[in-house]
Parts: sequence; C-alpha cells; structure tokens
Amino acid sequence: MAIPERVPMREQDPKVRITNFLSVPLGYSADEAVREAKRCLQCKVPLCETGCPVRMDIKDIIHLIADEKFEEAFFLSKKDNAVPAMTGRVCPQEEQCEGKCILEKKDRAINIGKLFAFVADWAREIDLVNESKPEENGKKIAIVGSGPASITCAVDLRKLGYQVTIFEALHMAGGVLQYGIPPFRLPRDVVDYELSYLEKIGVNIQLNQIVGQNVEFEELKKEYDAIYIATGAGAPRFLNCEGEKLKGVYSANEFLIRVNLMKAYQFPNWDTPIVCGDKVGVIGCGNVALDAARCAKRLGADSVRIFYRRTKEFAPAREEELKHAEEENISCEKMLSPTRVLGNDDGWITGIELVTTKFVGEDKSGRPKPINVEGLKFEVKLDTLIIALGTTPNRLFLSNVPELDTYSWGGIKADENFMTNIPGVFVGGDALSGGSTVIAAMGDGRDAAEAIIKYLNK
Ligand code: FAD
Repeated sequence: MAIPERVPMREQDPKVRITNFLSVPLGYSADEAVREAKRCLQCKVPLCETGCPVRMDIKDIIHLIADEKFEEAFFLSKKDNAVPAMTGRVCPQEEQCEGKCILEKKDRAINIGKLFAFVADWAREIDLVNESKPEENGKKIAIVGSGPASITCAVDLRKLGYQVTIFEALHMAGGVLQYGIPPFRLPRDVVDYELSYLEKIGVNIQLNQIVGQNVEFEELKKEYDAIYIATGAGAPRFLNCEGEKLKGVYSANEFLIRVNLMKAYQFPNWDTPIVCGDKVGVIGCGNVALDAARCAKRLGADSVRIFYRRTKEFAPAREEELKHAEEENISCEKMLSPTRVLGNDDGWITGIELVTTKFVGEDKSGRPKPINVEGLKFEVKLDTLIIALGTTPNRLFLSNVPELDTYSWGGIKADENFMTNIPGVFVGGDALSGGSTVIAAMGDGRDAAEAIIKYLNK
C-alpha cells in the first residue's frame, strides 16, 4: 500500500517573517493533524518510542489523534511530558523519535513533533488542564534552576505528593526555554501557559533567588529532605582573541537574553533596546548561533553571515533551523575561523579577521578536526559580532558550593543514581551533561525524580 506523503507544515513567508518575531510554523489544523496521524503504520514494536528520553506513548497518542480523540491524546502525552507544546516545537525529533520511525527509511517519518504540538495547542485553546493540587506527603524537595530538567523533576515529584520549591536566579522561570530560544521558534504564550501548569499542581516557584548568593546552599540542606541541582550550562565560551572586548561584540547568551528575556524585540514597547548593526557576523553553527543570527535579521540587520570552521553537514544545528535560516537569507560560510576582532579608536568593532581552515583527522566528537591554514587570512567588515561557541556550567554557583565534586570543565559529578558526592543532593540536565537538548534534560529530570523517591524511601 502506498504511504501518503507527509502533510506539509504551513509557515510564514520568509520575507514577512524576518520583520516579526511570530512563530514560523503555523501549526497543523485538526484536519491536517488527522491526515498526518493516519500515515502512522502503528508498528507492533514502535521504534519511535525508544528514541524518546521521557518515554512517551507515541504510538498510542498518534492513534488517538488519527481517531480525532484529541482530549485523550493530550492527557496521554501530558502523562509523561509536562510541556508537550514546547518539546513538540523544539525537540530535535529528526535525531530522536522521528529518526527511529520506520517511515523515515521509506519516505518521510511521521511528523511527531508537530502532531504533539497540535494536540497541546488544541488543549491550551480550551484550557483543558484543570488539575487539583495533590495532597502533600510531608517530604520537602528544593530544586535549583527552573529549566526543562527542573520542570520535569518538579512535576513528577509534586504529582506524588512531595512539596517542591524551585529557586530560580532570573526574574522569569523556564531556563533556556524562556531566555534562550526565541519566540519565533517558541512563542511566549505557549511557554507561559505550560509553565502555569506547575503552579496549578502546587509547585512553589521562587524567582530572583540565586542559590549560593542570596539563598545559602547550607540552609537548603537543613530545610529540605533532598535537593536537585538543575542550574544548566549558561556560561558562554569565548574566542580568547585580540579585540574580543570591543563594543558591539556579544556572546550569544548575552545577545539572546537581551532580546528574549529583556524583550529588546519589543522595543519601544519595552524600554530595553539592544545595539545591533547592519552587518552582523556570527561565529559557530549550532542552534544557539542560528537563533542569534535569526534574531539579528529580525532586528533589522541587512546582512547576517555565519562563519563556521567546518562544513554545514557537520554543524550541530537542527536541520529545520538551517533550512529556515537559509530561507531568511542568512549565509553560512564554511571552513573559516576567526583570528582577531578589528576595532576603531572609539572602542567599537569594525570587522573581523578570518583564516581558512582545513580538515586533519577527527576530533573527540568523531567529526573532522578543522585546523587553521597559515597565511590564508582575510578581513570582513562588521558592525556586530555574536560569538556562539557553546557554553559551560555556571562557575558562580560552583564557587559557592566548593564541597561539590566537579569535572575540570565545570560539570557536576554524579553516581549512576544522579546523586552528587553530597548525600541527598542530586544533579541533572546541562549542569551534568555540559549541554544537550530540552528533552534529554527532561529525561534526566524524570530519572532524578525516581532516584530521589528511592533515596527518601529506602
Ligand atoms: P537550563 O534550561 O539552562 O535552566 C537552568 C536554569 O537554572 C536557568 O533558568 C538559570 O537561570 C538557573 N540557575 C542557574 N544557576 C542558578 C542558581 N545559582 N540559583 C538559581 N537558579 C540558577 N535544545 C533542544 O532540544 N532544541 C533546541 O532547539 C534548542 N535550542 C537551544 C537554543 C539556545 C539559544 C540554547 C542556549 C539552548 C538550546 N537547546 C536546545 C538546549 C536546551 O535548551 C538545553 O539543553 C536545556 O534547556 C537544558 O536544560 P536545564 O534544565 O539543564 O537547564
């Protein structure tokens, strides 16, 4: 039997969308979602589920969508995933559930991410979630950070009656979902609605609380039965080259925080603009680099050029993001590495010096290792440079809790049960892995919740 083609996702026209921060995909209609769900072969052994770190019942959810049982589909997806509208939008499904879909080999995988986003959006529109607060069991858990690892751990524990308090350093909860990923990929009404679920079930979220600074870690140890550290990996890596401290040079983290969290994209409605010139260069080619480049375009930059030391096929960014960036006229210039940032007497950036790279062997990631080719240097004029070379765990927290065992790169060490060297103190998400994905952090949160329950009930 011929398998119908994947139902295409309608998107904002690239020419229009570079003038706004609204969602690029327009979402499936009910009819489109049902047609897409009906493509599913309902495999006896659903390989897609093996690719999901939070172990969602993907096959059954798709079956319910195909039968137009959206309400049941939503509750089944919510059982294992507190934020399905968000993961439906930002998960790298092509490497996870969709990557395992048998149809991927024959044609195109079921569009699992967009189907789950559809169902969650449908439920949000009618405010389907109306949960009561589970009764408390007398055990108190503190969670440091409020990103996806924290959210999942908090929800799993709270549902079983644990009293959960999240301490978040920033003035808004959500971690990277709130301050990193831009609204055109993850609309903020979706973020706010899914986060409101935590309060509905009685998770206490304390904002503007920096554990290790205005909240003492020792106090948390005394007051709570267990602690989960989910502080992420929000400290940027730099080039460490001449000129990097010039005005107009940003780390991608700072740039995205100013745009997303401090709402520079809503200037002048928000009085917090950002300086972004006409000619913007971005170093790196991961999701963070692409998010920064696409924000710069939307802030009005004329030319946005990504400089990458490998070729696009080895870039860590999601396929979908690379395609969207290309459609938005953002160039990705390969085999180039920056050597120096150029500036004027007023301390502002004027350009960048780049050198051509070549591949020599492989590096630790298994990708070709780029090295600079001496002598092949040239200059490019720029008004703004954004550096997106990856991140590491925040040293500020670690320096205030020196008794925690850490790796030299800043990750917190844990045993196979996610427990650190301090009994009753657990860790997960990017603070443990050094940088991964939303759903992997959520998987960590789920595993940590199970480990905490075991620890407290042994
Ligand atoms: P985070 O989301 O980083 O949350 C940590 C939280 O802890 C933050 O809110 C921080 O303020 C808080 N915190 C830190 N220190 C303290 C302290 N001392 N006291 C209190 N609070 C503290 N993944 C995908 O799957 N798909 C994508 O498309 C994608 N795009 C990305 C785009 C960007 C710009 C970035 C930066 C990352 C992206 N990722 C993506 C990766 C993904 O977002 C992360 O892997 C994930 O958010 C990690 O979750 P976490 O809970 O460990 O930490």
